[in-house]
Amino acid sequence: MRYDTQATPAIPLRPLGSPPQDPSRALFSEATLSAYHQGMQRCVDQVRRTLDHHRRPTSGVAPDELQPLIDAIDLDSPLETLDAGLDELQRLYLDHAVHFHDPHYVAHLNCPITLPSVLAEAIATPLNTAVETWDQSAGATLIEQKLIDWVGARIGLGDAADGVFTSGGTQSNLMALMIARDHACAAVADHPGNRHHGLPDNFRELRILASDVSHFSVQKAAALMGLGYDAVIPVPTDAERRMDVEALGAILAECERDGLKPFALVATAGTTDFGSIDPLSALASICQSRGLWLHVDAAYGGGLLLSRRYRHWLAGIEQADSVGVDFHKTFFQPVSCSACLVRERDHLQYVTHYADYLNPRDQAETGTPDLVNKSLQTTRRFDALKLWMTLRIQGAEALGHYLETVIGLTRETYRMLSAREAFDVLMPPALSTLLFRYAPAGIEEEARIEALNRKIRQILSRRGEAVVAATRVDGRLYLKFTLLNPLTRAEDLARLLDRIAEHGDALAAESLTALPPAHPSVPESP
Ligand SMILES: *Cc1c(COP(=O)(O)O)cnc(C)c1O
Repeated sequence: MRYDTQATPAIPLRPLGSPPQDPSRALFSEATLSAYHQGMQRCVDQVRRTLDHHRRPTSGVAPDELQPLIDAIDLDSPLETLDAGLDELQRLYLDHAVHFHDPHYVAHLNCPITLPSVLAEAIATPLNTAVETWDQSAGATLIEQKLIDWVGARIGLGDAADGVFTSGGTQSNLMALMIARDHACAAVADHPGNRHHGLPDNFRELRILASDVSHFSVQKAAALMGLGYDAVIPVPTDAERRMDVEALGAILAECERDGLKPFALVATAGTTDFGSIDPLSALASICQSRGLWLHVDAAYGGGLLLSRRYRHWLAGIEQADSVGVDFHKTFFQPVSCSACLVRERDHLQYVTHYADYLNPRDQAETGTPDLVNKSLQTTRRFDALKLWMTLRIQGAEALGHYLETVIGLTRETYRMLSAREAFDVLMPPALSTLLFRYAPAGIEEEARIEALNRKIRQILSRRGEAVVAATRVDGRLYLKFTLLNPLTRAEDLARLLDRIAEHGDALAAESLTALPPAHPSVPESP
């Protein structure tokens, strides 16, 4: 669609016919504030129109439909005006954007976002603060630090805790496991330390323990750390998909027998598929008695820190050596906004590197708070401002209520699913995910059930009716709802279940062999 652009005059962001370009008109500064103001208004209008016109969570567009439009763009031929740029963007992107706030977006861990957090982006980007050193950020550094201290206190990590904002749970897992590895290797005799000398000779014996439903970024971290996927031992889970403490004991005994050196255990507080929370207190005791680093991946479950009603589900998290929390999941913040914390601030030294031009050692010694000293990243956005504005304007309690609301909604939807004959629901929800499949009486064959569910998901997405996830559990394909929208009502989901059943019934009536192949635009796992 093409929107009326008469309301505001065109903004020539590049002076026409006057090469070389005049930077005083093209760069953001006090000289271009009125163009900035006008331009922002246009962008806000464009967003408003996009949301006003949206009726579905997705347009259902396929990559091979959009690719030609992108291919036709000549990046070396600028359009000259903001209006032309926005019109083009509407076709290429905005018309097809996936809307996470739509009640029928129920796929992944994407949340609707708080209004103050969106407004915070309108401040952080034009000021373009980079938070890695004090001399580039001033107050932003202290704001980030205060949020880290606040989260650390919410977790209960103690006075020596510290941490830093990260790009997400993936980076937090990498950072925590790298610190854990280097800390463990620092104790190896005759090994002067990983940072200067690389891994010790026995590095092939190093192991990380994580449940068999932990996040894949744990394996990825192991590979990046030079240990390989095989260094992660998957610990079996119980019927509720929580790490099985007895099985862990057996694995630890086996490691001892085989001369392997487990150095870290990753406990997940909210697994991506099941929302299950590993038994944190029991795992903390085991880690303490064995000298294992306990990292709690609370990327999903971290929001429970703000819930009065469910905070106790995280009991034991305060004993962790490190914790990752994704604010861009259950704290209702825009992507990306996340943090990694450690119990002992001294342990952050494993990611410190002093550079004379940026963060010299003497600067740290005189107490200059350069956040780069504890981050894997160098140049880094002021992502903390989003959470800050949310907490200062709305408060943390509201966020805790949102999560409580979606937990309630998930339970209600579970009851609806259980009451419907055509659906097979895997297990009661732990947090806010539901795994189920359309499996009506009379259809027994696994391959047929799988084909039906795969096709249902495709149709929903292609028609823009809903974005639903899918995953595999014990080899079987399940549809997955991830609910993070406190404005979604049970009726919305009842309607969606109706649609799923209608599509399923229609498909079951057809010959499945007549169906076209699965579209590649719809990946199975999150
Ligand atoms: C989402 C998730 C991650 C990865 O976090 P990103 O922010 O996507 O990098 C890690 N662990 C768990 C349990 C998650 O749900």
